[in-house]
Amino acid sequence: MENRKTLSILNSCLKCNSKCCKSESPIVLEKERDLILKQTEKDYFKREENYYIIPNDPCPYLKNNICSIEDIKPIDCKAYPLTIIEKEGNLFIGIYENCPGLSYINDNFLKEVKTLFNKYSLEEKKMLAKLNFKQNYSHKFFSEL
Ligand code: SF4
Ligand code: SF4
Repeated sequence: MENRKTLSILNSCLKCNSKCCKSESPIVLEKERDLILKQTEKDYFKREENYYIIPNDPCPYLKNNICSIEDIKPIDCKAYPLTIIEKEGNLFIGIYENCPGLSYINDNFLKEVKTLFNKYSLEEKKMLAKLNFKQNYSHKFFSEL
């Protein structure tokens, strides 16, 4: 997406002062953690069963309100405030309603998020959806995957 240099939805992110990076702990799959560790050698991850989180108060990768691992951050961050959800066995794009930038979501962003998720295996997508449910984040249906 053009202009997405720092967080998820640049214009709004700058205005909102990186709220999500200071309040929510992203879900990180093992392969995402491996990639980040390979490039940064800074292990801020906390293991939770078969996945990780980045404890976030604020996120240690946030530097001067900008994500310092933009290109390799987990999909949970890249897609935010969109995410993946499962309903009755089907996968959909869901949305976190506590992001103040919802009005900035456009077709290009949605398309990019779908492309990102579809680079993950079905098993990984189902796992991410399950973890979102488990974390009890507030999200609702937004689009077909
Ligand atoms: S809460 Fe929304 S607008 Fe604020 S930094 Fe996160 S994605 Fe951007
Ligand atoms: S990894 Fe980057 S985008 Fe994700 S919470 Fe941390 S600073 Fe924010």
